[in-house]
Amino acid sequence: CFKQKLTFIAAAKIASSFPPTRYAEIAFAGRSNVGKSSLINALTRQWGVARTSDKPGLTQAINFFSLGNELCLVDLPGYGFAFAKDHVREDWEELVKEYVASRSCLKRVCLLVDAKWGLRPKDQELIQLMESSRTRYQIILTKTDILPPLDLARRATQILQILKDHRSLIQPLIMVSSKNGAGLSNLRASLARVVSR
Ligand code: GDP
Repeated sequence: CFKQKLTFIAAAKIASSFPPTRYAEIAFAGRSNVGKSSLINALTRQWGVARTSDKPGLTQAINFFSLGNELCLVDLPGYGFAFAKDHVREDWEELVKEYVASRSCLKRVCLLVDAKWGLRPKDQELIQLMESSRTRYQIILTKTDILPPLDLARRATQILQILKDHRSLIQPLIMVSSKNGAGLSNLRASLARVVSR
């Protein structure tokens, strides 16, 4: 299904502007600058639809994209953006939480974690929320090209150890690099199973 055309559907800054629930949804979440836009671009090979930026925190709305007529990819605003004003940051976080906890067509959240930094407190907050709302999620380790293989393996083990009793976590953890393409076909195959179910 990742060969289908990626089409922008809507940008929502409040829950009442979420589009109707027509397709199964897969959402992408993570801290600002984790490599989310780059990954959506690389996965769909449709550069430019989900724009990337070096400015953390630029993507402030929840962006919905349809992929053919079977799947909706959702780009959640990055959290943990240090320079945002407190009330702005809280608004984004509330919006993400509301989406994740209440969206009925949401099949899976891909929680992107920077291979260099591992899980941070804001990631853990979202994980707690997904656990309590029984939202299925998967950890995607990004920017794996910047770490030597041994450090990468240690990082993956560390994360799985921290999350070992988490019931909504889908295994295995997937390691990707949008830069060199590592792990992308693996991730595509894993997400395609959501559609074929
Ligand atoms: P977003 O804020 O999560 O959407 O992150 P972006 O996709 O805009 O990427 C943030 C920064 O990380 C940019 O400077 C990207 O070039 C860089 N980046 C994204 N993916 C990778 C990757 O796989 N490897 C490396 N080395 N850098 C990446």
